[in-house]
Amino acid sequence: MYTVPKLKSYTTAALDKAVETLRAALEQEWKAVKNESEWKAFRDRWMARKNGILTEVNDLWLKAAPKDAKRAVGQRVNEIKKQVEDSVHRAESLYKDAAGTRVALDAVDITLPGIRRPLGAEHPVIKTVHEIVSVFRNLGYSVQEGPVIETDYYNFEALNFPPNHPARDTQDTLFIAGQESKPQRERLLLRTHTSPVQIRTVEKMKPPIRIVIPGTVHRNDPPDASHSPMFHQIEGLAVDTNITFRDLKGTLDHAMKALFGSSARTSFRPSFFPFTEPSAEMMVSCFICGGTGKRGSEPCRPCKQTGWIEILGCGMVDPNVYGFVDYDPKKVSGFAFGMGADRIAILKYGVDDIQLFFNGDVRFLEQFG
Ligand SMILES: [Zn+2]
Repeated sequence: MYTVPKLKSYTTAALDKAVETLRAALEQEWKAVKNESEWKAFRDRWMARKNGILTEVNDLWLKAAPKDAKRAVGQRVNEIKKQVEDSVHRAESLYKDAAGTRVALDAVDITLPGIRRPLGAEHPVIKTVHEIVSVFRNLGYSVQEGPVIETDYYNFEALNFPPNHPARDTQDTLFIAGQESKPQRERLLLRTHTSPVQIRTVEKMKPPIRIVIPGTVHRNDPPDASHSPMFHQIEGLAVDTNITFRDLKGTLDHAMKALFGSSARTSFRPSFFPFTEPSAEMMVSCFICGGTGKRGSEPCRPCKQTGWIEILGCGMVDPNVYGFVDYDPKKVSGFAFGMGADRIAILKYGVDDIQLFFNGDVRFLEQFG
């Protein structure tokens, strides 16, 4: 590292030699500057008022010079000063340019192909859920959601499932482990239907109630072409004064026309659910064959040539259920319905295996984009 020497001789030759050594050091140092902190160190080493090289040159060469040499030394010191300022400036440009070039190189490599980001699309099941929900929203229903992990009370007891009902069987229900020490009604399970949200909602609200409840549910079904341990339900509930079975039929008939077109027809046949009385299964005229049971000369498979597709379960809310939520069954009445969104999506899109919806194969899913 260069340090300023005391001059023993002030001859022209000696001065030239001293200046030449200093310039060589300066030249080497400014070219080595690579970044801002190195540049600051370089600048301070040469230009700092206290102990900077220029200050030392001034003290050791000019001030110490004999009278007759002062003029020659002063001239050289001025030149050195100018040269140092110049070098500090050039060193700054050097590292800044280098950094700028590096940033530019990192930011854009115009020889690379562009980045294609594939556009996402709504999953066919979620799309179906949204379509169904929006039909009921347009009828003034609000959307309610609830927990997927439920208590036995909300999933079964409050919905009028007797203790020996087959749906409570471990064949159907996925129970959370380690709950045996709790009373039965507090034991946790994965909800087997979205109906617990009906109870949770009516506990908080007073009639009139019009709600639609979309959500995932779980059952202990081994996966195959038509079963999945997880699937999607949409339930609806309307409770008010003077609600009759005609309101149920009119509402669901309208909903099916909104979903499948104005030529869709509906048909009801008796059924059983623990929480509705009377209960019914609703059929909709097959929207694939138009209710004829045939596609050209081929039989229509989705409706098994009957021209009808079973699409949802429904019924008038069992008065026993009102007892659980403090409604007076003599004053209010209502209806409930529930359907499987996955099944409707399967029919709508002509999918032959429910597993395709859930195994995440983009080649399958991108057909719906
Ligand atoms: Zn058909």
